[in-house]
Amino acid sequence: TDTVTNKNVVFYLNEMNKEMIERVELERSLRKGIENNEFFLAYQPIINPVTNEIVACEALLRWEHPEWGIVSPKKFIPIAEETGMIHTLGKWILKTACLQVKDWQRDGFEHISVSVNVSAHQLQNNRFIDNIKQALDESALAPRYLHLELTESVMIDRSLTTVEMLRELMEMGIHISIDDFGTGYSSLSYLKHFPIHTLKIDRSFIQNLNKQSPDLAIVHAILTMGHGLGLRIVAEGIETTEQLHMLTSLGCDFVQGYLIEKPLEARRFTHWLERKRK
Ligand code: C2E
Ligand code: CA
Ligand code: CA
Ligand code: CA
Repeated sequence: TDTVTNKNVVFYLNEMNKEMIERVELERSLRKGIENNEFFLAYQPIINPVTNEIVACEALLRWEHPEWGIVSPKKFIPIAEETGMIHTLGKWILKTACLQVKDWQRDGFEHISVSVNVSAHQLQNNRFIDNIKQALDESALAPRYLHLELTESVMIDRSLTTVEMLRELMEMGIHISIDDFGTGYSSLSYLKHFPIHTLKIDRSFIQNLNKQSPDLAIVHAILTMGHGLGLRIVAEGIETTEQLHMLTSLGCDFVQGYLIEKPLEARRFTHWLERKRK
């Protein structure tokens, strides 16, 4: 048994080593990727399911590595957060998204908002508000068209800086959305303390939505509570017409997902808008 154990230990150490090398490699490439502008944003439409009109788009970060191709944000965002690179990236994301949406507004899509994902780390940075102001200034986008998607974890952080920062953002007229709503294990009391505008129901509740599933009761409860609080509700991850019909009949305000359109690079999103206008 000793040899077996030793083999396992050697295997384990090798695996650990591999992971560490991969991690260092990824971090180095990420730094280089920022220097070389290897990033772009993809935009996914958010529509009103009753009128079929587009109301907003979510900006999603894409990294196109010269050798590896597209790397998932799930893989590199955590590293960007740990290393502080998220601040540089986040500033670029805000500016790019605001400029792009202002461009679409000038082209006649006047009421499109842009929803930008913001990680909790970004809120810890005291230059965050300045970055927002700068992005709005440079793009001339009206603040109400900028929506920030925050997760519930941000809301349980009652540190003065977070609370003050959220209040300042709201006073500027920026919209706050709670992303992945229902997956955090925080209490709901933050909904009373912060003037939040929108809840985004997490895809995990939408995935198996049918008349028999417990998810139906959860989604129904979120809609009832959210509407009672005067909030707007978005459902993400809509893939089937059955899901779309159920959410529409439940009174969900807005929907987003592959059924409507997948995230598209800016030029293709422009074409999507133009096709839709006709
Ligand atoms: P998220 O904010 O929950 O974004 C939604 C994810 O679901 C996106 O994955 C989107 O492409 C995907 N999605 C949209 N519709 C469907 C659908 O119908 N079915 C399925 N299966 N998936 C769908 P993506 O782009 O890979 O992003 C993953 C996560 O990475 C995001 O989750 C967000 O947490 C993070 N992320 C992406 N862009 C940014 C960014 O600019 N900043 C920050 N801080 N995080 C970002
Ligand atoms: Ca999001
Ligand atoms: Ca989400
Ligand atoms: Ca999600």
